[in-house]
Amino acid sequence: MADDTNPPHRPETFTKAPIVPFDPDATPHRPVRAAMPGEEPPQGLRVDDLGAAGESEPNIRVALLAEPFNDPFVSGSVRCIACAHRCVLRPSRVGICGVRQNRGGVLYTLVYGQAVASQAEPIEKKPFFHFLPGSSAYSVATRGCNFHCSYCQNWEISQAHRKGRVPESRYVAPETAVEAAVAAGVRSIAYTYVEPTIFLEYALDTMTRARAAGLRNVFVTNGYESPEALDLLVPNLDAANVDLKAANDDFYRHVCGALSEPVRDTIVAMHQRGVWVELTTLIIPGLNDDRRDLAAMAEWIATAVGPETPWHLTRFQPAYRLSGLSETSAATLVGAASIAREVGLRHVYVGNAPEVEAAATFCSRCGERLIDRSNFAVTEWRLVEGRCPSCGHALAGVGLEAAPVGL
Ligand code: SF4
Repeated sequence: MADDTNPPHRPETFTKAPIVPFDPDATPHRPVRAAMPGEEPPQGLRVDDLGAAGESEPNIRVALLAEPFNDPFVSGSVRCIACAHRCVLRPSRVGICGVRQNRGGVLYTLVYGQAVASQAEPIEKKPFFHFLPGSSAYSVATRGCNFHCSYCQNWEISQAHRKGRVPESRYVAPETAVEAAVAAGVRSIAYTYVEPTIFLEYALDTMTRARAAGLRNVFVTNGYESPEALDLLVPNLDAANVDLKAANDDFYRHVCGALSEPVRDTIVAMHQRGVWVELTTLIIPGLNDDRRDLAAMAEWIATAVGPETPWHLTRFQPAYRLSGLSETSAATLVGAASIAREVGLRHVYVGNAPEVEAAATFCSRCGERLIDRSNFAVTEWRLVEGRCPSCGHALAGVGLEAAPVGL
């Protein structure tokens, strides 16, 4: 493994956050080890790992989804139940995500409205190919993450609390984010770049305001939401692109610091509760590109969520702790897509690989070409009221009735 640095080039890719500057005057905090699932209780971070923060700051709010924890050794412990880690936090400790803290027996979020990124982008870049194609989404993100993926291309913001860096941020109230989204002419707000469950309170307040303004809400997520968090989110959540990172727990444990089963449970729960779901797998050479594993993932998708579920297979580009690995070869990506189609998945896409990009949508019944895309934009639209012009089959997805503006 190489140093924790990005390669010199920074190609534009799916879900890549904009460059976020760092605050040179901020007190760097000491790197800490992430707690692994199964360790009891998770160690969390220390209060002085956080940098300066005061109770009067608008980003610090009482958190949702906390419950008292009867710790026989330390009174005042709480359990956060926002994600599947279910961290137990002793007084002053912070959870694995680095942004939820026990202060005096009460769980607080430290990043309410504390945006490190907010901008309008094509929804194809999230990526969503079957949800409001050709529209723009307004991306919102804070720092922190409940995973610590060794290849994270957004590690400067997701792992800032572990790396002694403080990304610059600004307070963007939920109503301000929605106003900016409406002014930008988008059709949805995307909670993205880091795991949005960790800023649940900010996301929920923004989601309800977005719905009232006629916008949709989409999550770009690792799928580690707890059932309790899903209960809060689903009423205002329209779509989710969930990372299905690998076929087995080995990868999830050692590369991401998590487990695979909660992710699969979330995917199924979202699908069953009417959230439009697309899946993404970043194919990393030697780590999750085994042909049998890919076939097993495809079979699971077809069985658990259905063969019309879009699956985005994307190229790994060296980043963070895996800067020393090679990018995914074109042959591996093409082979992975072939496996998925042979298993029976109908909408398999290859991304971040211009020479073999597979970004067109075909009719799952007759094979007619329905939507063409190039560089995150829809370039051709042949659907007629959401249906194939040849055989009349309805394309799976949301917002497919009319062509994007300008086509
Ligand atoms: S959101 Fe997840 S990682 Fe963060 S404190 Fe809660 S349970 Fe722990």
